[in-house]
This record gives sequence, structure tokens and C-alpha cells, in this order.
Amino acid sequence: MQPVERLYTLLQSQRNIVITMHQKPDGDAMGSALALYHFLKSLHDNVTVISPTNWARFLNWMPGCEKVIDYELYTQKSTELLNSADIVFCLDFNSMHRTKKMETLLLGIKCVKVLIDHHEQPAEEHFDYGVSDITKSSTCEMVYDFIVHSPFADKLNIETATCIYTGIMTDTGSFRFSITSAATHKAVAHLKELGLNHSIIHENIYDNFLENRLRFIGNALLNRLEVLYEYNTALMAISKRDLLKFEIQTGDTEGLVNYLLSIEGIKLGALLIDRTEERKWSFRSKGDFDVNELARNHFEGGGHKNAAGGRSSESIEDNVKRFKEVIKQYENQLT
Ligand code: 5GP
Ligand code: MN
Repeated sequence: MQPVERLYTLLQSQRNIVITMHQKPDGDAMGSALALYHFLKSLHDNVTVISPTNWARFLNWMPGCEKVIDYELYTQKSTELLNSADIVFCLDFNSMHRTKKMETLLLGIKCVKVLIDHHEQPAEEHFDYGVSDITKSSTCEMVYDFIVHSPFADKLNIETATCIYTGIMTDTGSFRFSITSAATHKAVAHLKELGLNHSIIHENIYDNFLENRLRFIGNALLNRLEVLYEYNTALMAISKRDLLKFEIQTGDTEGLVNYLLSIEGIKLGALLIDRTEERKWSFRSKGDFDVNELARNHFEGGGHKNAAGGRSSESIEDNVKRFKEVIKQYENQLT
């Protein structure tokens, strides 16, 4: 993988460019894809964003979101676009399987592939150019760096700034996670100078849910939470029945796992959700406990030290049982 700066000369000539991100994109994945989209649009006509799957409705207000193509809904069109792409940007994921059904196509196409990502252990062998930096708060901050260090830094407009801020805000937990650096704040100060309205972005993301989501969270906290004080661990398992009962849509469960860590003394929060095709784990930790390692070694996943995800084809019950066995081997680190 060559340094991403070497791409700047390639970007000077007209190209077909596709931008993609991980499945079920969050604020950082959608934010970085759309930020790059607005920036590249000022240089090229043919720029498209393809999401591997659908996304949360709380992202729909983002500038350019209406142009994003859902691969699962428009597979043929997406395939044509990817097959005729000269450059594909892959944002906010470290391994191709995070693009779900798009994985085979992405691996097979012969074009310039670029990675911009901040997850641990990236599969660099699949990329021609890129930057992987686990010290960065978000992929959005990395897209910011990519733009301001380019010869086209003056193209950073308000749409780009809005999208960048969204990902920085969501991935840093509104600037509270330890990964938030002086550089993160300096980037945001620059975005403010460009006219960024940060409070409306916060409102759009966090104060725009439907009533059913709040009632779902209330039910989950009251009835689905199990606290394993002997391991300083909080566990929550959500069945398909709950998801159906509260009409839960993509994105509605985001943030739920953070409640688990808000309990005094709890070092590990684990949320399991019964998605139709698989069981999906979300892990969060405080301090030194490494959930990336936990997810990687036991739940087919990965991510960051304090925030990671995993998956499994086993039932909810078997997953919970296995989780309770697995944490026994981490007792020393957890207590
Ligand atoms: P979340 O719990 O919010 O879905 O994910 C937490 C972090 O772990 C995110 O940075 C996300 O990209 C990453 N992550 C989530 N699920 C997986 C997975 O199945 N595999 C890998 N490698 N990373 C994941
Ligand atoms: Mn991210």
C-alpha cells in the first residue's frame, strides 16, 4: 500500500470514482464517504457513493445522502459502477468482509483501490494506496487531513465540513473518548471558521428518533440487562421478538451499548442483537481492557481497543452461554 499522498497526482485527471464504506454505515462511515464525495465532486464529474447496505434514518439529513446507492437494493447498477470505476475509495473498515455482499466484487475488480481507515489490523494487501492510523479519532478526521494536505485544500466547502464534523462527533462520543486529540479539536476549529453549525448537527443525529426507540431502550434497560459484578461486566441480549415488537429499524440500537458502561465499576459492556442473518455483538470497555482482542479471538470481529464488534451464526442463547465462559479467562484483567 503506497502512501495516500501519492494519489493527488492521479486525481488531477478525469476518472470514474466510487466511494464505499462498511455495511450499515454509522456517522463516521457515511460522514467520511460524503465528505470525500463533496470534495471529489469539485474536481470530477463521475463520483458515486455506494453503501453495501441500508443505513439509519438519522443520517438521511446529511448533504448528498439522497444520492447514495444502496448495493442490496440496486445491485445491478452498483455492479456496473464498480466494474467501470478507475478508483475505489474504501472508508472506515479494515477488512473486506465488512462490505458484506459486496466483498467478492470488490476483491475481483481491477482498479486502483484506496483505503482510509482507523481500525486495528487492516488488510493492507488489498489496497494500492492508503492510510491506516489507529491513533486517529475517526475516518472523518483522516479525510479532513487528506483534503487539507492536498493541492486542492481550498475546495473544502461547508457540505464537506458538515459531513466531516458528523463523523468526528459520533466516533469521539461528542469529544469525550480518549482518542480525541488536539489535532481533532484543531480540525473542528477550522471547520467552525468555514461556517460550520455544530449544534444543528448534534440535534439532527441525537434528537431525531421516533418514540418507539425510546420505549425499546427503556424495556431493554429494565428487562434485558444482566450485570455480572464478579467480572465487572454488563451484558444485554436483544431477541428478534423485541426488535419486531418495537419496530426497530437500522440504527435504532446504536448507542445502546454505551449505557452498559455507565454503571459504576463496569469495565466491559457487551450487547448482543439477533439480526435476521446473524447474531451481532457490540463490545465497549473502559481503561485497558482490549475488546478488539476479545472480538477478534472469540467472536469473528474486531475494531478498536475500547470499541469493537463481532458476529456469530450461533443462537442468542448459545452466544450468551459462550460469552459467560469466555470472560472467565479474562478475570484477571477485568477485576
Ligand atoms: P459497533 O459496536 O458500533 O457496531 O462497532 C464498534 C467498532 O467495531 C466500530 O469501529 C466498527 O467498525 C467495528 N466493528 C463492528 N463489528 C465488526 C466486525 O464484525 N468486524 C470488525 N473487524 N470490526 C467490527
Ligand atoms: Mn470510524
